Amino acid sequence: MSEKALDLFEKINLKLDDVTYIIGFNACAKLANDQAMKIGKKLLDDMPNNYRNNNIVLNAAMDMLMKFGDVQSAERIFDSIKKKNIISYGALMNGYNINSKPWKCFKILEEMKQEGVVLNEHTCNILIGTCSKIGMIRQFSGFGLNGMGLEAVELYRKMPNELQNEVTHICVLNACSHSGLLDEARNIFNEIPFKTEKIVTAMTDCLSRLFLFDEAEKLIDEYEKTNSPSFIMYMCLLSGVRNNRNKKLSEKIYNRMKSLFPDEKEGLTSGTILVSNIYSSVGEYQQAKEFRSNQMKELRKKVKSGLSWTDGSGEIVAFSVNDNFHPQLAEIHAEVNRMTSEVIKLGYKCDSSWVTRELQEEETIESALGGHSERLALAFNFIQRPVPDFIQITNNLRICGDCHQYTKLVAKARQRDIIIRDANRIHHFHKNGLYIKFYQDLVQYLHTFGYRVIKNFHERNSTISNLTSRVASTSTLINDKCFAYSLLEKLFEHVEHASITMQL
Ligand SMILES: [Zn+2]
Repeated sequence: MSEKALDLFEKINLKLDDVTYIIGFNACAKLANDQAMKIGKKLLDDMPNNYRNNNIVLNAAMDMLMKFGDVQSAERIFDSIKKKNIISYGALMNGYNINSKPWKCFKILEEMKQEGVVLNEHTCNILIGTCSKIGMIRQFSGFGLNGMGLEAVELYRKMPNELQNEVTHICVLNACSHSGLLDEARNIFNEIPFKTEKIVTAMTDCLSRLFLFDEAEKLIDEYEKTNSPSFIMYMCLLSGVRNNRNKKLSEKIYNRMKSLFPDEKEGLTSGTILVSNIYSSVGEYQQAKEFRSNQMKELRKKVKSGLSWTDGSGEIVAFSVNDNFHPQLAEIHAEVNRMTSEVIKLGYKCDSSWVTRELQEEETIESALGGHSERLALAFNFIQRPVPDFIQITNNLRICGDCHQYTKLVAKARQRDIIIRDANRIHHFHKNGLYIKFYQDLVQYLHTFGYRVIKNFHERNSTISNLTSRVASTSTLINDKCFAYSLLEKLFEHVEHASITMQL
């Protein structure tokens, strides 16, 4: 049928109107062979201007180009549409999915939010159904990895039951965990009928990230009543304890791990590093060193050192901690210093707890942190000419808390989007700070005022307005107006974001 239609288009000099253009584009899209591509593109090129304001025609043209794999031309058409409707957005997103660029859909979703376009069932289906066919799970976990928790929960809630499985449960729990959505995580976890090891681990991680260690330990105990213990569950717990710098608890967990999993040498090595980092973070360098070397002797392992990779005009460049090899080292260090003075103006204060070894002579906390491989890789990008539009770095370990804060401010100071993928997740640093996870910052900050405050905070945190009043009262409590204002600013940024998300 489509073939016959195309033959007609080719042979007869038809006088075309909007309906015939749509039929033509649809036929070409359906066939998407060489002949169809030739005819379709010619049809589009020769199309008179008056049809270029017709959304239905343009949507059909966009759909056709996407089916041809010509994403760029389709994007050009999309950009040319003055009043984009939900169908235009749908056609573009569908096109991204079929061209294996599902990632771009998120950007479009953002744009739709900004334009106030409300998702309809069709677009939800595009987002859910098509994505599921071409690797939705990967994309969905992308939400989690990028700290877009609300979006992930939204998608999860809309997902048909038959699409839900262990992977989607884990993804949504991870997303909640990375975005601090505790209530959502608890609700979802309770609704999951069969809780596998991975699912319980995801929940343990979520609780540990929010420093709810009692609850996390209870969960593990409960799990172990009917299952054999899980190493990774304990690692999640221990990571949380590290961020909380809880020495006592970390020792207790590490010892329990050693007795439960004597053969997990590799894993116990990571555990050792975490515990010794806790010692360093409270200034007990000698203890850290001893603990590390004793445990390593026991486990007979060498410590893995941090490495970062980045793209340097087409080739991959690697940096190690305190790199000594790169030929442009002097320039790179000068650039690190420049970046540091810029971020200091934006409020950066180096966090000595992330210096995990004793300082050498003539070394300062700043210079020790400045040698972290992520920063060298960052600086390397900024001495390129031209400076790349956005910067991508991969790290073999976990990015440290200080580099996280630093990079966030560099993105702002230098007006560049920066993505750092570490051993655990992808960190998105938007140049305008849009993706900065205010919630985790908040948690970190509040935690210094005691476990009780934060616990209370989490229990009550069901709505944004509730959150706002909690922040206000906490700020009064700690008598820090500056903090209150900056927090409220962040909150309102989030409220706007959240209310738009809720509309969707
Ligand atoms: Zn670092």
